[in-house]
Amino acid sequence: MSKTTRRNFVLSVGALGATTSVLGWPVLGQAKTAGGRVVVIGGGFGGASCARYLRRLSSDIDVTLVERDSKFMTCPFSNAVLGGLYDMDFITHGYEALREKYGVKIVHDSAVDVDAGAKKVRLANGSSLQYDRLVVSPGIDLRWDAIEGYDEAASAAMPHAWKAGEQTTILRRQLEAMPDGGVVVIAPPGNPFRCPPGPYERASLIAHYLKKHKPRSKILIFDAKPKFSKQPLFEQGWQALYPGMIEWISESEGGAIDGVDIKAMTVNPTFGDPQKGDVINVIPPQKAGMIAGVAGLTDDNGWCPVDQRTFESKAQKDIHVIGDAAIATPMPKSGFAASSQGKVCAAAIVASLSGQEMPDPSYVNTCYSLVGPDYGISVAAVYRLGDDGIAAVAGAGGVSPKDADAEFRAAESRYAVGWYQSITSDIWG
Ligand SMILES: Cc1cc2nc3c(=O)[nH]c(=O)nc-3n(C[C@H](O)[C@H](O)[C@H](O)COP(=O)(O)OP(=O)(O)OC[C@H]3O[C@@H](n4cnc5c(N)ncnc54)[C@H](O)[C@@H]3O)c2cc1C
Repeated sequence: MSKTTRRNFVLSVGALGATTSVLGWPVLGQAKTAGGRVVVIGGGFGGASCARYLRRLSSDIDVTLVERDSKFMTCPFSNAVLGGLYDMDFITHGYEALREKYGVKIVHDSAVDVDAGAKKVRLANGSSLQYDRLVVSPGIDLRWDAIEGYDEAASAAMPHAWKAGEQTTILRRQLEAMPDGGVVVIAPPGNPFRCPPGPYERASLIAHYLKKHKPRSKILIFDAKPKFSKQPLFEQGWQALYPGMIEWISESEGGAIDGVDIKAMTVNPTFGDPQKGDVINVIPPQKAGMIAGVAGLTDDNGWCPVDQRTFESKAQKDIHVIGDAAIATPMPKSGFAASSQGKVCAAAIVASLSGQEMPDPSYVNTCYSLVGPDYGISVAAVYRLGDDGIAAVAGAGGVSPKDADAEFRAAESRYAVGWYQSITSDIWG
C-alpha cells in the first residue's frame, strides 16, 4: 500500500486509522465522526486543499467553502505567463471537482464578518453560515499605506501582480508595450512576504522575454532586503542566461523604496536618487487577508498566531488559520506549504470532531523556480513538530546543487511543470 518517493513525509495518524502516506499528504482511513459543520473561507491553495481533504477523511462532515471568485488563478506559474511561456488559461482552475466529486458546498461570495461567540460567518449578501469549526485561508492583502503614493489606484499604473489575475494581465501588457531599451523596475518588500523566491523568478522570466524580443532592455531589482532566497543559484542562472541584463540593488545599496510617483514613473529609494522605469512592478509589504483581521485573528504585525499542531488560532477557539495568513515559520508562505497545512488542519479537525487526540503531524514544502524555460532550481524541506513548534528535519531537503550541469537544470524545469500539474490536480482536479 505504501508508496515512497524522494520527498515524501508521513503524517502519523494512528488514532484515525492511517493506512498509507504519499508525497506530503496523509491518506487516512475514513474516520467515524459525529458529523459537524465546517466552513472554510478562501478557495486557494490552503482552503481548497483543506475542504477537499476534510471530505476525503470523513464524508459525514458538512463542508462549505466560501470563495469570492468563481475561478481561481494561481500565482505559481503566473511569472511564466509574464515571460510569455504560458497563457492565463493554464493557471486558471474551477471548483466543479470539489463540488461534484467531493461534495463540498461552494458559495461564491465574500465573508465580511465572523461572530466567534455565535460561531457564524456573515456573507456580503447578508446571509450567515453556522459552523462548528471555521477554517480561514484568505491569503494576503497588500499594505496600501506602506509606500507613499502607492495605493490600490496606483496599482493600475504600477502593477504588483502579487495576486494572479487582472494584475498579471496588466503587467504582461505593459511589458509587451515597452520599447526595446526600456527599463523594468521590480521592487520586492522585506520579509515576511508571499513566495520568497517569487520576485527573482519574475525577474528571470521577464528577462527571458526581453532577451528574445527587446534585447537592449534592463531589469533593476530595488530590494528592501540584504539577501534573498536561492540567491547564489539565481545569480548564477542570470549570468549564464541573461548576462548584464539584471541588476540587483540591495537594501544597503539604496534598494529599499519608501515612495513612488506614478506620473513621473519613478520609485523613490530611502536614500539615493529616484529611479525612472518604463515598467514598474511594486510588490508592497503584506499582511493576512482582511477577514483574518476582522475576525480578531491577527497580531500587531498583521499575521495570525496558531497552534502549529492543529492550526487552531491562538486568539479564537474553534477557528483555524492556514496558508500565507498563518505564522508557520520556518515554513515559507508558499502554495505547497499552504496545501500541506490544509491537509494537517483537515486531519486535526476530523480528530477533534471524532473525539481523538491529534498526533504529531509532518509538513512538506518544495519551491521550484524557473530561471528560464529549460532552467529550473528548487528548495525543499520536510518539517516536524518540535518543542518550539514547526522545525525543519535536518538532511531532509535542501537546495539544488550550485554546479549542476545543463541537463540537471533542464530536468528541474520539467519537475517544476510536473509539480504544478500534480498539485493543481490534487486541489482542484
Ligand atoms: C508570483 C508568485 C509566484 C508564486 N509561485 C509559487 C510557487 O511556484 N510555488 C508555491 O508553492 N507557491 C508559490 N507562490 C505562493 C502562493 O501563491 C501562495 O503562498 C498561496 O497562494 C497561499 O495560499 P493561501 O490559501 O494562503 O492563499 P490563496 O491561494 O491566495 O487563496 C486565498 C483565497 O481566499 C479568497 N478570499 C480571501 N478573502 C476572502 C473573503 N473574505 N471571502 C471569500 N473569499 C476570500 C481569495 O479570493 C483567494 O481565492 C507564488 C506567489 C507569487 C505571488
